[in-house]
Formats: sequence, C-alpha cells, structure tokens
Amino acid sequence: MKRLLTPGPTPVSPEVAAAMAAPLVYHRAPAFKEVVLRVRENLRWVFQTKGEAIFLTCSGSGAMEGAVANTLNRGDLAITIRAGKFGERWANICKAYGVQTHNIDIEWGKAVTVEQVKKALDENPKARAVMVQASETSTGVAHPVKEIAALVKSRPDTLCVVDGISALGVMNLPMDEWGIDVLVGGSQKAFALPPGLAFAAVSAKAQSFMEKSDLPKFYFSFTKEIASQSKGETAWTPAISLVMGLDAALNGMKAEGLEKLFGRHKTMANATRAGVKAMGLELFAPDSPSDSVTAIKAPGIDGQAIVKDMRDRHGITIAGGQDALKGKIFRLSHMGHVDRFDVLTALAASGDVCTRLGARLDVAKGLAASEAVFNAQN
Ligand SMILES: *Cc1c(COP(=O)(O)O)cnc(C)c1O
Repeated sequence: MKRLLTPGPTPVSPEVAAAMAAPLVYHRAPAFKEVVLRVRENLRWVFQTKGEAIFLTCSGSGAMEGAVANTLNRGDLAITIRAGKFGERWANICKAYGVQTHNIDIEWGKAVTVEQVKKALDENPKARAVMVQASETSTGVAHPVKEIAALVKSRPDTLCVVDGISALGVMNLPMDEWGIDVLVGGSQKAFALPPGLAFAAVSAKAQSFMEKSDLPKFYFSFTKEIASQSKGETAWTPAISLVMGLDAALNGMKAEGLEKLFGRHKTMANATRAGVKAMGLELFAPDSPSDSVTAIKAPGIDGQAIVKDMRDRHGITIAGGQDALKGKIFRLSHMGHVDRFDVLTALAASGDVCTRLGARLDVAKGLAASEAVFNAQN
C-alpha cells in the first residue's frame, strides 16, 4: 500500500479521480460553460469573497507571478516576508519583474511578527504591497495574516497579497472580512487535485491597482481571465479534465462546509503535534505552527534517511527539508483528502523509522496522545 503524505501533491479522492476520467468535453461547449460558472461561484465561496475569483492553468507559482504582474508597476516597492522557500519566491518574482523589494528576513521556523511588518510599512510608506504566505510550507509556519491585513487595510496605496496555496481549505482566510486584496491558491494542496491549476481572487482595491499596472502580462492577464470566466469561458484552452475535477472537489468541500473543513484540519494538526511531542520528537516550528503540514526535527539522525526509509520500508512518501533545512527536518502533511488514520499511520511509521535509525522514542505514547486528541472531538 502506497501513501502520499507530502505537502503537495496530496492524495486525490476516488470521486475526483472519476470526474477527471470522464470523456473530455469541449471547453467552448455549453456543458463546460455551466461548469466554469459553478466553479467560479464555488471558488468565491472558498475564498470567502464577493470579489473576482479565477482559475488558471498552471501550478501555484503561476498565480503568484500573476499577482505581481497584474497589480504592480515598474519600479514599485513591495515588502516581502522571507521566512522560507516560498517567502523567497515572492521576492524572486518581484525581482524578475523589476519590482524592488524590502525583505523582512525571518529565521526559518519562525513567524513574522505584526510589529516587524508595521515597522517595515512605517519605514517604507511608498510600499505598494505586502506579500506573505498564510502557511509557509517549507517550515510549517503560519504567519499572522489577519493582523497583517488589518495593518494594510488602512493604507489606500498598499495591497495585502497572500499566498494561500497551502492554507486555503485548511484554515480560515476570510478574504473580504480580513481585507486581503489578492489571495492565491493551488490545486495540489488542500483542494486535493493533481497539480496543474492555480486560483486567484482579487478585491475591489486590487482591481483598481490592476487598471494602472504596467508590468508585462499576456497568458496570466487576470483582467482577460476575469472577463472570460464571468461569461463561463476561459481566455485559453484550460486543463479541462482538471477543471472537471475541481468542480467535483469544490462540491465535496461545499458538502462538508467550511467550518467542518477547518475543524477537521485543525484536529489532524493538533493530533500530529501531540503525537510527535509525546513520542519524544521535537516540532521544528512550535510557536506558530501551520495546520497544513507539521515540520519535525530529525532527532540526531539524517532527515533524508528518514524520508528514504519511510518510502522504502513503509511505502509512505513524505517531504524532507529544503535548502538549509535539508537533512535537518522531515515534514508530514495533513491536508486535503486525508483522515485520522493517515495521521496515525504517519506517526507510527515515523516513530518506527527514527527508532531503527537510532533515536530513542516512545512510539506507543505518541500514538496514544494522538488518539486522545481525535477521541476528544467525538
Ligand atoms: C506549493 C506551494 C507553492 C508553489 O506552488 P507550485 O504549485 O509548486 O508552483 C507556493 N507557495 C506555497 C505556500 C506552497 O505550499
């Protein structure tokens, strides 16, 4: 039995797989138009916005690039929060487009503080955007998006741009209520689809920035895509099968309801963390952990060996650390189409592998602590 517990891609449910396996429909046919219009409404529901929401045929990074290219201008200044691999990506995209950045560099494993963002905004009053990850997947950290959005909301010339790729469908990100201006997502995280689609939603404020933006854009023109999708069309040939899968995935999310969806993820995250600690392992980001993925310190052994043995011995694919964290941590994902027994299996197998590699752990105690979290919910 093979299990996929990486923080993207995540397992695909049989219902979604079946929807994607149906005979192809023509993307200009009336049947597909209906799907596009429904997906558009349901995306707005997930993003909790009355603003515009679109899907794009690309991976999540394409929507990140689109967020920059569609809202900013040549020579603009943006504040980025570089607390991991994906925070770096905001800064790198800006650089590629000639947008200057003021980077708030945070030690990997820590969240940015509201004070740090406030200071950066006060010192850079011309900043046109603050760009942050809701969940920094490379370190397992959640940033204080609600508070950051509140800081930006009162500044008419600054946008709050949030990478919610590993957060949408996991934690509450009420775009309109919090004042998030651009929110991006990706298909292969909590939406539990294969990779290949990205999502973006824009507030009215962001749309006023879009009207003035002079950065080059063609395939990723949000304006063109919004105009098409509001009529049930797409600007280009979309990944039709993935959109059929998205329709099924969104229907599933709607049936579960946002509150239950977030609650299920919170419980799986809590149960993972409780199990990790009780067996004698250490969380990499204990202070502000993301509910999407748990990063765990490799206990005096090579983290890459843990990843390899999980795969070779137990058929479980997990993620290791990236860049400076390579070999130092391993990451267990608990987002999307996963449940209590995926969490318990991941904990049991991690404990087994670490013990075989020489760590001294109490795996049974970890499993009991994790079970207790689940049982307390029933
Ligand atoms: C996965 C991920 C991305 C990158 O998405 P791709 O689909 O690989 O382009 C960006 N940001 C975060 C937070 C992610 O988890």
